[in-house]
Amino acid sequence: MGQNDDNAIRAARLLHHRKAGLAPGDPVAPPIIPATSFHLPSNGTGAFSYARAGNPTWTELEAQLSLLEDAETVAFPSGMAAISAALFACLKAGDRVILPADGYYVTRALAESFLQPLGVKVETLSTAAFDTADLSGAALVYIETPSNPGLDVCDIRSVAARAKAAGARVVVDNTTMTPFLQRPLDLGADLVVAADTKAPGGHSDLLAGHVAGRDADLVARVRDWRRLSGAVLGPFEAWLLHRGLETLELRLSRMCDSAQRIAERLQAHPRVQKVRYPGLAGDPSHRALGGQMANGGFLIGLTLADAGVAERFLSACPYLAQSTSFGATHSSAERRARWGDAVPEGFIRLSVGIEPVEVLWTAIDAALAG
Ligand SMILES: *Cc1c(COP(=O)(O)O)cnc(C)c1O
Repeated sequence: MGQNDDNAIRAARLLHHRKAGLAPGDPVAPPIIPATSFHLPSNGTGAFSYARAGNPTWTELEAQLSLLEDAETVAFPSGMAAISAALFACLKAGDRVILPADGYYVTRALAESFLQPLGVKVETLSTAAFDTADLSGAALVYIETPSNPGLDVCDIRSVAARAKAAGARVVVDNTTMTPFLQRPLDLGADLVVAADTKAPGGHSDLLAGHVAGRDADLVARVRDWRRLSGAVLGPFEAWLLHRGLETLELRLSRMCDSAQRIAERLQAHPRVQKVRYPGLAGDPSHRALGGQMANGGFLIGLTLADAGVAERFLSACPYLAQSTSFGATHSSAERRARWGDAVPEGFIRLSVGIEPVEVLWTAIDAALAG
């Protein structure tokens, strides 16, 4: 309950965060400022100098993200740019990093292609195995819970405590939940990373990401990485994400309520072989509800008989975008085996959108019957 109350206050503050700084005649919505250079005579210092180091439109966005995370936040041009910054800020040659074997595959590919050749030892564990694994000797423990696409969980508080005891830092990819549904920094994570391309942007029209943390020195390294590597968010994308965040709490509320109802009906459906949704009482991830997850989220994993049945379902349902990615206003779904994920051929990741739930369910039910 406390989390819900705090979330309600966060959602309201986020909508009004500009107010205190406004002078009469200032725009209520933030302006998009595309300038690359800022007036800086002689030895003068200003709030802004050159746009790779800072931009006023980012400042508006980071104010919102910092309110959401209760932490200093650095915005990036994609989720992977944010993840790269966190990894490079935390790791050096000779270090050992433990990554999820069943999480977002690009994170593993990045580590194996670019960190390993620089002398970082890259190891993987399944998400559920982080709960009992020996973490000693690691410099960085990186988790993603619930994992994309399998929706397995691990206990963030327990992993963080054991990682700390072993002298490791902890980074949590919170993309599948967002700060409204899960708060890794409150549970002991050093950094949280997220793809704001998903639910925070929410309209399938922008790439963005962020890193947040409460250790000022570590966040300063992340900020330095952005300035030195040049992985910077364009002001238009920053503005779009600022706009998307204003409705995030509202959209999530509809999406997660609908996902719970749809998961329950899918579970009872004779054409569906298996359903993974943390909000279902019998789901292996249900144990994370209440403690670290506010609800079951908006992603459902469902397994149909085979690839053909799954593809026919996807093309028959008029209210499912057949696309990758998730977290948008519109529901979307895809067969994950097409990307080589270690899932059954008939496994579909369904991202529930904001369509009125009975209209959406009627269409899903009809497409399953077809
Ligand atoms: C999409 C995603 C990312 C990467 O985000 P991009 O904006 O596509 O770079 C990282 N982690 C998870 C869990 C994701 O789903």
